[in-house]
Amino acid sequence: MTALQTSGDGRGDVAAIPRRWPLLEQPPLLAPYVFVVVGLHAVLTVLAVTHTTWRAQALILFGALLACGAISIEASRRLGMPAGVARDLLSAWWLPAALLLQPVYALLMPIPLQILLQLRVRRTMLHRRAIVMASYGLAGAAASVAFHAVIPHPLRDAAQWLTDLDAMIPSVVVCAVLFTLINTAIVVVAVHIANPELCWRDALWDREILLLDTVEVCVGILITISCALTPLLLLIALPPVMLLQRSLIHHQLRNAARLDAKTGLLNAATWQLEADTEITRAVRTDESIALLLIDIDHFKRVNDAHGHLTGDQVLHEVATTLVQQLREYDVVGRFGGEEFAVLLPHADMLEACRVAERLRSRVGRMCVPADDATITVTISIGVALFRTHGHDLIELLASADLALYRAKESGRNRICLPATKKPGERRQITARPSPRRL
Ligand code: GH3
Ligand code: MG
Ligand code: MG
Repeated sequence: MTALQTSGDGRGDVAAIPRRWPLLEQPPLLAPYVFVVVGLHAVLTVLAVTHTTWRAQALILFGALLACGAISIEASRRLGMPAGVARDLLSAWWLPAALLLQPVYALLMPIPLQILLQLRVRRTMLHRRAIVMASYGLAGAAASVAFHAVIPHPLRDAAQWLTDLDAMIPSVVVCAVLFTLINTAIVVVAVHIANPELCWRDALWDREILLLDTVEVCVGILITISCALTPLLLLIALPPVMLLQRSLIHHQLRNAARLDAKTGLLNAATWQLEADTEITRAVRTDESIALLLIDIDHFKRVNDAHGHLTGDQVLHEVATTLVQQLREYDVVGRFGGEEFAVLLPHADMLEACRVAERLRSRVGRMCVPADDATITVTISIGVALFRTHGHDLIELLASADLALYRAKESGRNRICLPATKKPGERRQITARPSPRRL
């Protein structure tokens, strides 16, 4: 399953599902797109079901592949499928159904499996689930038609697979790639309609996602060839596929534990670990390093006026704007409720203030659409420089916190440094009225 298909869904969404029709609250083009794709899948499925001659051999293989898919889903449920960008290896089971069986099976296969996912693993918005289901069905049917045009009876001719395997493999590979391309294209268009600011390159090009897609296609191809020889080989394929799926989920769970679910930034604990590493490096290399502590001004008013969900959306937009303005090696995390921390390696005071000003002005220009209004927010930033304002992370944080407090006290929507100390005076770090804890 491609990451794009599940991006943003997850356990966190269950609480976020409004009681109204969520699809109608999406950008206006999304609803017609979903209806066209899901409708096409439904019509083709009905047509295929009424025009198919059902054969026992195909039905048995279909049942076996469905059972393997259901076992994989149940296993991922037990492991606790991570929220957000979650991957499984379900394509490994529907690719053989698409290539070895008639197109009707490819159209049918995602229906029970997606229902099972929705009921057992992750409740997500129904239109999202429906478009994923339809996209698998349509992609599988297209791959099936293409494969049957080259090899009309792939199941009946098991002997041909043994004698002519080298000639068969390219057809399997091409159709598997076709399956992935169509599937990805349908979902990426939906993602783009739902989120028009997302650039096509970001939606399509991610090294990790491409690697996982490749792994999924390769596993699917191996299972297809095994099934073509004898469906009994499914019994041997199931344990390694489940082990691979387990290691994938474990990897994703570890990543999810590093990130803050609402903003996608590093969470406070991970930010502290990474910031500590950067400071140790700065000590070793004698480089400068600066810290920005950022707090959204009067954020409580946003929640009070527009509700917590809109407040969360504003948090997400602010986080995205910050990331867009920073360099890849800057360490940016969500530090508390509406507070962010940014460590700027190699930055001196001038550079840190320049970056802070850029962040302040970009966030100030940001517009977040709400029900009946457009929300704008401002931020206050406290800046502290390593060695000048602190000799370790805790001292640096305390100084930046005091600077932030000064920014708030002097009117908000501004950048402040910690109070300058007199020559020869040793810095006294006093707690501000509400001391910050890591
Ligand atoms: P100030 O300018 O002094 O920072 O005012 P403020 O209203 O931003 O600060 P205050 O500390 O009084 O309130 C912070 C608010 O942030 C209160 C809390 O409800 C909200 N908040 C904290 N975490 C979240 C969150 O995850 N989501 C949403 N929507 N709101 C949050
Ligand atoms: Mg605030
Ligand atoms: Mg605050």
